[in-house]
Amino acid sequence: MNIHEYQGKEILRKYNVTTPRGIPCFSVDEAVQAAEKLGGKVWVVKAQIHAGGRGKGGGVKVAKSLDEVRDYASKILGMTLVTHQTGPEGRLVKRLLIEEGADIKKELYVGMVVDRASQRVALMASSEGGMDIEEVAAHTPEKIHKVFIDPETGLTDAEAEDVSRKIGIPEKAIPEARQFMKGLYQAFVECDASLAEINPLILTGDDRVVALDAKFNFDSNALYRHPEILAYRDLDEEDPAEIEASKFDLTYISLDGNIGCLVNGAGLAMATMDVIKLYGGSPANFLDVGGGATTEKVTEAFKIMLKNPDIKAILVNIFGGIMKCDVIANGVIEAARQVNLKVPLVVRMKGTNEDLGKKILAESGLPIISANTMSEAAEKVVNAAQGK
Ligand code: ADP
Ligand code: MG
Repeated sequence: MNIHEYQGKEILRKYNVTTPRGIPCFSVDEAVQAAEKLGGKVWVVKAQIHAGGRGKGGGVKVAKSLDEVRDYASKILGMTLVTHQTGPEGRLVKRLLIEEGADIKKELYVGMVVDRASQRVALMASSEGGMDIEEVAAHTPEKIHKVFIDPETGLTDAEAEDVSRKIGIPEKAIPEARQFMKGLYQAFVECDASLAEINPLILTGDDRVVALDAKFNFDSNALYRHPEILAYRDLDEEDPAEIEASKFDLTYISLDGNIGCLVNGAGLAMATMDVIKLYGGSPANFLDVGGGATTEKVTEAFKIMLKNPDIKAILVNIFGGIMKCDVIANGVIEAARQVNLKVPLVVRMKGTNEDLGKKILAESGLPIISANTMSEAAEKVVNAAQGK
């Protein structure tokens, strides 16, 4: 689950990581009031969407008067902000963060992710922070310093200080940088984050270390123990198809291809997408209906897939283990009738009661294209999607 920058900063403050003072707002008037309340002479008006690259897209503006705050707030609020992370369709801005303007001497970078290979939290830091960290990673990877943190000791003082020096933090700011890095690590672990990124963290004119941006992702499987983080969820920022799917316990991820996939088991679902790609097609979604796929679930899954106007064909690929193929066959037929299916449907099923399942499909009178192997199914669905 993703959260907004201002929410991430709320978490950081709890862990003694310094951030600029700021107030989230939902209207232009609120924005001006927030700036008055913060005081000072310079404010930053920041679009709050679940995507980075806002600065380059025109979603972060420095205002030098309350009139400018009003002006920028009215321009940004309600705009469709397009950044390299939103895709070309962009994202509608519904919230703002009004923040005190910081005195930036240098923009640095620090991020944390769960590194599967080392089974540790990896801290990455660079002197080259700001808006182009992707470029730094691609062209000058030696400028990114990494620490693989031992879960037993946590991030040690020595590691925190060492990496801070490597990214050019001056000696007098090292104690504060150490506290910053350790606070970020503690927040990461205690909140079950899967990603935390501070880009930029800055060194101010008077050598203080401040988090100017905050991005967090959380492990959804751990949210049951973090009601305070779940409360940050903003459904406006999530894909409507994915929200709908989660109501029915379906694991659904929207993708940009044109072949709908309905599969049971995450591994089989991944393999199905791979085989579709192998045959030159492109999946419109990842969908795992799980082990206990009832007729109702299969019907909902069809409905969700068919809301996508790009869908040109559907592939149902089921392994009947605990789930029997005849039950799935009945579910597919029922769903196809209910949704008045218009796109070609390829079905491959293997396992328990396979013959019975196939018989039910064949006798249904529906124009279902049946397939025996993964390759055959993929080839048929790719052809069907291309109208062949
Ligand atoms: P994004 O990463 O989505 O572009 P950031 O929050 O990183 O958004 O802001 C982009 C840039 O705007 C920063 O690199 C920084 O230069 C500037 N900026 C952001 N917040 C402030 C602030 N409070 N004071 C001064 N400059 C800021
Ligand atoms: Mg940023």
